[in-house]
Amino acid sequence: MKLCAGCKKEIADEANFCPTCGIFQDKDIKPKNKWYFKKTSLMVSFLCVGPFMLPLVWFHPELSRTAKVLYTIVIVVLTYFIFVVFLKSMNSILSAYKLSTYM
Ligand SMILES: [Zn+2]
Repeated sequence: MKLCAGCKKEIADEANFCPTCGIFQDKDIKPKNKWYFKKTSLMVSFLCVGPFMLPLVWFHPELSRTAKVLYTIVIVVLTYFIFVVFLKSMNSILSAYKLSTYM
């Protein structure tokens, strides 16, 4: 027998929730995170599809609302900087190409 986490009454060891107060006894039995909600797959998906992975952040079951907003801001700012750097490199490549063709 073990004690209920809620009402402290004795319940069976294998009981998932208390028959008296209905509180869940074990944190292990809550549904596990899906693989696409893992931090590493969130990172990889951002590197692959950029801001299009934002729904993964917003549907994440464990992130708080402020964390989601923070992640969104970070992702949008990162995407903006990557875009600016990409444009600058394209411009420098284009100007170098023009220089070499007019020579
Ligand atoms: Zn209980």
